[in-house]
Amino acid sequence: MTPKQSILIIEDEKSICSFIETTLTANGYKVQTASTGQKGLSIATSLCPDLILLDLGLPDMDGLDIIQKIRSWSSLPIIVISARTQEREKVNALDSGADDYITKPFGTSELLARIRTALRHYQHISDLKGSSAVPVYQYDGLTIDFDKRLVTLNGQTIHLTQIEYKLVTLLAQNSGKVLTYDYIINHIWGPYADNNNQILRVNMAHIRRKLEANPAEPNYIFTEIGVGYRMQESQS
Ligand code: CA
Repeated sequence: MTPKQSILIIEDEKSICSFIETTLTANGYKVQTASTGQKGLSIATSLCPDLILLDLGLPDMDGLDIIQKIRSWSSLPIIVISARTQEREKVNALDSGADDYITKPFGTSELLARIRTALRHYQHISDLKGSSAVPVYQYDGLTIDFDKRLVTLNGQTIHLTQIEYKLVTLLAQNSGKVLTYDYIINHIWGPYADNNNQILRVNMAHIRRKLEANPAEPNYIFTEIGVGYRMQESQS
């Protein structure tokens, strides 16, 4: 039997906390809870959970500070829970090192899916560090061979420009995760790039025209309005 994965919930709203705790326990996770940031940080450092669910609006600390503190010693996955729908806050959380976010109110299946993705992604990264395996992105007819730098859709080679290929690769290597506009721009055009999303949007429109049957209803790369882009998680 594989050991249960442990999840720490840092959330001051009792009803939400117990809803999540019940859901996760029923789905085979070991759960710890903390109602303040300080308590959460001390459990995180002493017990090293596999994943943290973090409410940004805590009574004693700013959730962003908690993310930064944890990131100073660990890259364990952090999913932010937020009642606030402001895009800016999600962007700040992601840029501070959170892996994903979920907005209240959310359903059980959405929560479990986000957790599975974050845990898998983290495992995948750890596996890559320990091996020379060449990853391939694969989902519904789309294949990206990172070693051969080859993108195929239903067996046909897709011709991408240098920038388009870099963009698709960045998203594919982080598939399932939201990447913020600033993060993408920094990675593709460098830290001194104009932080104007226009060039990114134009390139993304070209990519969609090449990859998506209907660019208005994408199958591979989704827009997270006001935040960034998320690529459908790879099945390989
Ligand atoms: Ca709260």
